[in-house]
Amino acid sequence: MSDLVIANGTVVLPDGPRQADVLISGETIEAIVDAGTGQGAERVDATGRIVLPGGVDPHVHLMVGFMGQRSIYDFESGGIAALRGGTTTIVDFALQRRGGSILSGFRHRRKQADPVVTLDYGLHQIITDVNADTLGELAALRAEGVASLKVYMIYEEDGLKVEDGALYALMQQAARDELMLVLHAENAGIIERLRAEAVAAGHTHPRWHARTRPPITEIEAISRAILFCEDTGCPVHILHLVAGQAIDLIEAARRKGLPVTAETCTHYLALDESALERPNPHEYVMSPPLRSTANQAMLWEGLKRGVLNAVTSDEVSYSAAAKAMGAASFATIANGCTGIEARLPVLYTLGVAEGRISLQRFAELFSTWPADIFGFGDSKGRIAPGYDADLAVIDPQKKRVIGKDTDYGDVGYNPYEGMELTGWASETIYRGKVTVRDGEFLGTPGQGRFLRRANAKRPQL
Ligand SMILES: [Zn+2]
Repeated sequence: MSDLVIANGTVVLPDGPRQADVLISGETIEAIVDAGTGQGAERVDATGRIVLPGGVDPHVHLMVGFMGQRSIYDFESGGIAALRGGTTTIVDFALQRRGGSILSGFRHRRKQADPVVTLDYGLHQIITDVNADTLGELAALRAEGVASLKVYMIYEEDGLKVEDGALYALMQQAARDELMLVLHAENAGIIERLRAEAVAAGHTHPRWHARTRPPITEIEAISRAILFCEDTGCPVHILHLVAGQAIDLIEAARRKGLPVTAETCTHYLALDESALERPNPHEYVMSPPLRSTANQAMLWEGLKRGVLNAVTSDEVSYSAAAKAMGAASFATIANGCTGIEARLPVLYTLGVAEGRISLQRFAELFSTWPADIFGFGDSKGRIAPGYDADLAVIDPQKKRVIGKDTDYGDVGYNPYEGMELTGWASETIYRGKVTVRDGEFLGTPGQGRFLRRANAKRPQL
């Protein structure tokens, strides 16, 4: 007899959905057997429900400060929010401060996370200072299990931007040390000029955040990143792609055989630039900005065709009060929004329930492909024997209106407020244990583990 059986559900297997029982032994999936035949000491009845591989959200910022604000979620509470949203693995970020060592930034982040983290996590290492000493640390960082470096092509005022020469040198060394790059790709020069002009003209409404970041700023930066990738051999993953025209660049690079992947985010699929005309427009300021509905259709097409390989949350839980503090000018609003918990019901509703993508493609975007790209595709992202028993059980019939009160944390607003959604997780199973049932966290702080990552497996077009 197994320890746990998830019985009679529609199980989304790597080759498609099937009525089956999932047998779990200890922390691991033991077998998939015919529906109704599994025996387990504990049983979850999944009749009428869908059993998904536990979500992998590879773009999450817990416990951060930016532009003078602090996030609501840390590694305990943010992890619980993720688990409530069916996500069992995240990749967060460690920060190298300018003038500081890369490894000390990494170790600092492990110390913040390890004692309290409630789900499995990996880290991208943010690089802000490229010099001979720091380039020499990359091999040791890779040996610690970090497989990706994050670079911001923008945000000089926040001490984050890496200019082209340094980026190029970093990519050359990263290629040698088998690290990939995850990129915030926006053209700093154009944006800084447009922002300065807008502010000088007195255009401070949040809509100017979007107007000063036109699609060309994303497209040019992505195109530059692909050229650097081709020249240096360093694999590149484009974070939070929203300019639909850039999808053609990703596709062309992939067809050439270049190691280039890209993601978009939940909010770019659910929201468009008209949100910046709502009563609280500052709550919809994130970078890159919300764009047109026509652009949104291009994102769905990219997801459907598998050119975009993940939908991530880019979670950052600045509170409503924190967002409002900077609201007098688009240039002073803390960028970003929460979404770690909403990613599952929003993507399921807009994607599967409304017929834009298949259930299998949903599982690939929500879990399988991010696990592969970020180096833990041998243990996460699939419902298959030998894989970690990380699962989300959802009820496709149950509808619920999302809002600030449905989130785990007291963020004070919800960017998806008022949307009627399906696809809420009734149970989340983490390493063989039911860790969330009907929204209640049953696990313990510190149960999560740091994931040492292998090299990427990139999905084929
Ligand atoms: Zn981000």
